[in-house]
Amino acid sequence: MIRDQPVAIVGAGIAGLSAALSFAHKGIPAEIFEQTSVLSEAGAGLQLSPNATRILTKLGLLPQLESVWTEPQAINLVSGTSLRAIASVPSGEFARERWASPYGVLHRADLQKTLLDAVAANSLCRLHLGAEIDDASQHVIAGMIGSEPRLVVGADGVWSKVRKRIEGAGKAIFSGSIAWRFTLGEAEAPAFFGTTKVTAFLGNGSHLVVYPLQPARSFNVVAITSGADPGDSWNRTLPSKTSRQRLLEAFSGWHPQIVELLRQAVEPTIWPLYEVSAGAWNRGDEVILIGDAAHAMMPFAAQGAAMAIEDAFELASYVANRKPLTAFVDHRKKRVARVRSRGAFNRFAYHARGPVRLGRDLVLSLRRPESLAADFDWLYGYEPKD
Ligand SMILES: Cc1cc2nc3c(=O)[nH]c(=O)nc-3n(C[C@H](O)[C@H](O)[C@H](O)COP(=O)(O)OP(=O)(O)OC[C@H]3O[C@@H](n4cnc5c(N)ncnc54)[C@H](O)[C@@H]3O)c2cc1C
Repeated sequence: MIRDQPVAIVGAGIAGLSAALSFAHKGIPAEIFEQTSVLSEAGAGLQLSPNATRILTKLGLLPQLESVWTEPQAINLVSGTSLRAIASVPSGEFARERWASPYGVLHRADLQKTLLDAVAANSLCRLHLGAEIDDASQHVIAGMIGSEPRLVVGADGVWSKVRKRIEGAGKAIFSGSIAWRFTLGEAEAPAFFGTTKVTAFLGNGSHLVVYPLQPARSFNVVAITSGADPGDSWNRTLPSKTSRQRLLEAFSGWHPQIVELLRQAVEPTIWPLYEVSAGAWNRGDEVILIGDAAHAMMPFAAQGAAMAIEDAFELASYVANRKPLTAFVDHRKKRVARVRSRGAFNRFAYHARGPVRLGRDLVLSLRRPESLAADFDWLYGYEPKD
């Protein structure tokens, strides 16, 4: 490959921006095409686990992230009905020591701004806003940038158009679950939310994840329930009383303070959860999918963005080291499959009912926090290929 020949990246989400910075880190220029003319992230948060922050640190972004995120002291599992503690995985300093990288929670817009500022400051990255790519073929992109790209990277999310260029690629499939997302000011939040922890409240068929967002002094709240597919749109504002009724039904029997805050929540945004099924990720060495375009997954392990960041960084390493894309795909598919099965396990455990739930609580209560943390060594301690 000619060193100056750019890669073309379709999509400037977490995957696309991380990919541009990762290629630039290897001295490879990147042209990024984003359909929207102003990048804005919906009002919601993101957990960045140590496997993701290790890479963002390698890309030089840690100081910026540290100024906008919170490092929770623990990730807690709590009963959604009684508020009894079920299990706790230590984080904060413990995460920095055990997994040699921090665990942070932040507003998505803050991560996006950090990535965007770094892209804007990097002379090897060029961002084209308002540039929707309908046909990601080499010659169409060559017409836009004046030379044939070395590689087209489809980082265009769950509804990827680049995916259409790949024979045997997976498909977006509704998962049967819906996420309801909103933020809550510290003053309106119940004291048990706590400003120094991530809490997953668990109940029959639903769960609720809460964590603090700084510097806004608010909480990110995500409720996950089963539900019907409201259509092929990804992000919707709660449209009617019926929808709120459905949310309240899913949480009936939960602790009264949780039910009340769901009743009062201002305009939760509904996110029907889609996954991308298994399939091909590349077309020869010309086109590759990363992030949600390749493997959108359920948020039960909070790893979708982390996998996008890992994909981005490792792709740049494979390309810089002139390895074939099939080797990248084989390597990443194994990792993503393991993360997906962890998510499927969490889905089963978080939403357990009856005797399974009692068994879960008993098993977890017998385990010490450090032993629970050890379960995450393979995930959070991951050292990406550089
Ligand atoms: C409720 C919920 C909670 C989550 N929590 C976490 C968490 O805590 N931690 C975590 O790691 N992950 C989490 N995730 C997953 C994470 O949000 C996603 O995996 C991640 O944002 C995917 O990033 P992406 O860049 O691949 O895709 P996207 O964010 O979808 O970005 C795709 C970009 O491509 C652009 N685009 C699309 N089509 C075109 C086109 N034709 N031409 C040009 N541009 C185009 C879009 O405008 C967009 O900017 C969560 C997901 C959900 C739903």
